[in-house]
Amino acid sequence: MSKTMTREASKDFVRDAHGEILPIIENFYSYCAEGKLMGIKCVGCGQIMCPPRAICRNCLSDKYEWVELKERGKLVTYTIIYFPPTQFQLLAPYAVGISKLDDGPHLPGMIKNVKLEEITIGMPLRVDYETVIPKDWPRWARYFFKPA
Ligand SMILES: [Zn+2]
Repeated sequence: MSKTMTREASKDFVRDAHGEILPIIENFYSYCAEGKLMGIKCVGCGQIMCPPRAICRNCLSDKYEWVELKERGKLVTYTIIYFPPTQFQLLAPYAVGISKLDDGPHLPGMIKNVKLEEITIGMPLRVDYETVIPKDWPRWARYFFKPA
């Protein structure tokens, strides 16, 4: 294992001195590159967080384990983006929303593979993964939501 941390999108995870995969966003996206939706489960209280957080928002514990989450949820809220940041300009207009995953966490993300006028609150969504990794930093494999 390399001693240097990497920000490249790859199967190299950023680990602590004991080899544990750290609960940070780079590692979350490295799992996405493997087609896995992973969250952090607090060992103290069982709260599941996705994207991962180093400290439990519920009990402030820093003891955690990675858990694979079901890629299913329901749309809680969404908005249509007409004037996006530069890197997403070709996609506009597009929808971003927050899905309440079946496993509990609320995950924000882009909603694709559906006409914008057919998006409804409460609709069942599935997490899927982009196959193209952006050329510019951050070179992360991204996830998105699509109708289940
Ligand atoms: Zn906790």
